[in-house]
Amino acid sequence: MKTTIIAFGSNLHNPAEQIRRAIVAVSALPKIGSLKTSSLYRTTPVGYADQPDFINAVAIAQTDYTATELLTELQAIEQQFGRERSFRNAPRTLDLDIIDYNHEIYQTDTLILPHPRAHERSFVMQPLAEIAPDYTLGKHGTAAQIAAELGHDGIQLFQAASHTKAA
Ligand code: AMP
Repeated sequence: MKTTIIAFGSNLHNPAEQIRRAIVAVSALPKIGSLKTSSLYRTTPVGYADQPDFINAVAIAQTDYTATELLTELQAIEQQFGRERSFRNAPRTLDLDIIDYNHEIYQTDTLILPHPRAHERSFVMQPLAEIAPDYTLGKHGTAAQIAAELGHDGIQLFQAASHTKAA
């Protein structure tokens, strides 16, 4: 099994409920083994500001999917949740990103690993630091180090963690 980090985000149609359901959907995938999720965080939008706040969370999971298979599975879940891709950084029912896959460096037209902007985003790094503070993200250092540098601006705890799928 490989270790992967998955980020969850939503800011439409009861976002907290979207994230809870998405975590259940990801953990139910046949080739996802153990999975641990962070708390849910409420965050202010990045990029396009005139839209509702987001709910974000991060999971660390063991998987037998390859990275590209995992992306396909996550995109299928996004589609099930009715995501409409209108414009970059637009409001969305559900956004799922692979933040890291077994510390592998990978770049194709459809998948870049580690995720190229994750280390700039406190809404990814604070939840990751909560569940895996020593996890190293590319050349940027550990989750705890990156999160400390980014700080807590625009992010607050929404609901403490509750979901874990045992191996
Ligand atoms: P976004 O609209 O920000 O969710 O971007 C989705 C697009 O990013 C998709 O077309 C993916 O193929 C691409 N992509 C590249 N790297 C990643 C990654 N690590 N995780 C998720 N999507 C990725």
